[in-house]
Amino acid sequence: TGGGRTPLIAGNWKMNLDHLQAVAFVQKLHWTLKDAAHEDGSVEVAVFPPFTDIRTVQTLLDADKIPFALGAQDLSTKDAGAYTGEVSGAFLAKLSARYVIIGHSERREYHHEGDEIVAEKVQAALRHGLVPVICVGETAADLEEFGAAAVPVGQLEKALDGVPADADIVVAYEPVWAIGSGQAATPQQAQDVCAKLREVIGQKLGADAAERTRVLYGGSVKSGNIASFMREPDVDGALVGGASLLVDEFAAIIRYQK
Ligand code: PGA
Repeated sequence: TGGGRTPLIAGNWKMNLDHLQAVAFVQKLHWTLKDAAHEDGSVEVAVFPPFTDIRTVQTLLDADKIPFALGAQDLSTKDAGAYTGEVSGAFLAKLSARYVIIGHSERREYHHEGDEIVAEKVQAALRHGLVPVICVGETAADLEEFGAAAVPVGQLEKALDGVPADADIVVAYEPVWAIGSGQAATPQQAQDVCAKLREVIGQKLGADAAERTRVLYGGSVKSGNIASFMREPDVDGALVGGASLLVDEFAAIIRYQK
């Protein structure tokens, strides 16, 4: 981390933990972290449950004054109307969700979301005061053909079209080959691409935004490798999948400084 940015450790639960399991999980995590840095605000923690858990988790965070931010894993490009199965950013904002993941590789692959939809979803999030966590990353085939940076740089350029310079956003570099594979990028690889993504933010939104915006690394982050990523100047946190579902492991990631 550099530039005085507050590190963000984000847990993307994907399609795991129903609302009852979510309550038990969040309570255990909070209990495990009682003395951790997130309590004094030096590390921000965010959880991204499935839609059906969000109201329950929000109520729990509120009632027990648990200092985790809440996020959703997706949102509709639309605000309301005849769109069966969709969930609007307006609804998420009403539930005190602060963040929303956009452009995750699983949405790009299984739901055919291209750069145009990603850009529309970024606009939808900003319309409702949500902070988009914009995910970009290259596949193994892209890596071989174009190197690591070209595809994520192109994806981010398109996602940032029309985004105002003062917008609050988060960017996550997630090489597709590293997600759920146990084969994380090296800290140097992550740093190289995160620095290029910060340059894109600078070109599109200006120097202030580049300095202020957090760029995360994601892909097989574990308690054993988090500190090595966080030492890099342009890596401001992590988007964690599998390891965010294990209380002790996720707590250890949040406590990476210790
Ligand atoms: P992983 O997933 O930590 O299980 O690799 C990361 C992600 O998809 O955000």
